[in-house]
Amino acid sequence: MIWRRGVWTVGCGEEKGMDRNMIVELISVGTEILLGNIVNTNAAYLSEKCAGLGLSCYYQDVVGDNEERLYDTIKTALGRADILLMSGGLGPTQDDLTKEVAAKVMGKTLYLHEESKAAIQKFFEKRGMEITDNNWKQAMMPEGCIVVDNPNGTAPGIIMAENGKHLILMPGPPNEMIPMFETSIMPYLSRLQSCVIFSQTVKICGVGESKAETMVADLIDQQTNPTLATYAKTGEVHLRVTARAEDEKAARKLVKPMIKELKGRFGNHVYTTEDDVTLEKAVVDLLLANKLTISTVESCTGGLVAARLINVPGVSEVFKSGYITYSNKAKRRLLGVKKSTLLKHGAVSEEVARDMAKGAAVVAKADVVVSVTGIAGPDGGTEEKPVGLVYIGCYVCGRCTVKKCLFSGSRAKIRENTVSAALSLMRECILQYYSEVTFGGKDK
Ligand code: ATP
Ligand code: MG
Repeated sequence: MIWRRGVWTVGCGEEKGMDRNMIVELISVGTEILLGNIVNTNAAYLSEKCAGLGLSCYYQDVVGDNEERLYDTIKTALGRADILLMSGGLGPTQDDLTKEVAAKVMGKTLYLHEESKAAIQKFFEKRGMEITDNNWKQAMMPEGCIVVDNPNGTAPGIIMAENGKHLILMPGPPNEMIPMFETSIMPYLSRLQSCVIFSQTVKICGVGESKAETMVADLIDQQTNPTLATYAKTGEVHLRVTARAEDEKAARKLVKPMIKELKGRFGNHVYTTEDDVTLEKAVVDLLLANKLTISTVESCTGGLVAARLINVPGVSEVFKSGYITYSNKAKRRLLGVKKSTLLKHGAVSEEVARDMAKGAAVVAKADVVVSVTGIAGPDGGTEEKPVGLVYIGCYVCGRCTVKKCLFSGSRAKIRENTVSAALSLMRECILQYYSEVTFGGKDK
């Protein structure tokens, strides 16, 4: 039986899940994970996906490449979950044991799966690589299993389903596991659920996490279906609305009024309700929609604001230039910031942030400029100007706003927070310019 890119070709586990939430348990296999040599990003990825699918996850296990302990882990997990999602240990080497041990737990013997053998042969031929004997190990499959296509590697995935239990094995490398999960495993899991889970996220910026939570506390208290959860991201808050219904249409219908309510409460702070729209994309879309060009001028973020904007495909239409003016000399020479201003107020000041933005607007002939100057630490702070003090300037068509921020955490964290705050401020200033909506910040 083969499951290819989300379409059943032979055999289809039609069985539906029970009315209660199905329980999933994640098992990450690999001694490298236990030793801390690799970070268990597969578990993080899968947890988020399972939550999105409405599956309940109560346990996650990490187990080394050891037959006995792997056996015990699978056996224990099967006793308390409906679905086991396993990653790692499907490779060709002796220490890759997952399939053999999982088959043993399920009481299945392995047989040579001809299609997988042919797929392995093709994979190696295409790359001009020599096949070693141990590669054929990957074509051995447990009886009665579903073999899942792996277009990015040689180890197919495997699904063993029996008595309402689903044991799902996926390769360890994320570049193989993620596409396999998205194209094949996710549709399989969706089919197991007797109802459909639909989620939509309202992404907001310019409102702190605790304020956002307070603003929706009553909705969270009353929640049943749909549910509402808040997730704090760097410089943003995501409000995820999830509904459960018998089909997608009905679930969407349940989500809709809550999205409307959230949009009403957060107004212009909502930058999107689309999953694939990031804050930088929202900013670039705003620039494109208003035919505005942008330049960046950065000190402590050293180009990170420009990099975030340049992440967005199509930014070339609007992005003119990015300056990194780290030294005072560079601020003076490239942007025309006055020596007297620097001496009087210091490089990290409202005045310098404003002059950097205005200076860059002239030099780069850009409609919008964002400027950043701050103390990222760990040294260089004073009582008056502590580490984490950042001024972000935003010039929009002749009008300049400067925002004072005080971030905490490591140097990296302060810089990361600054970038998000700069993007958020840019968005607010552009909206303000066009609609006179009042946001935080200080107009001069
Ligand atoms: P291979 O055919 O590469 O041996 P495999 O399915 O046997 O694949 P492992 O040998 O367990 O997988 O792991 C191979 C590599 O995949 C690891 O070195 C690591 O880079 C990555 N990897 C494995 N498990 C995880 C995980 N849980 N999170 C992130 N990366 C992982
Ligand atoms: Mg391996």
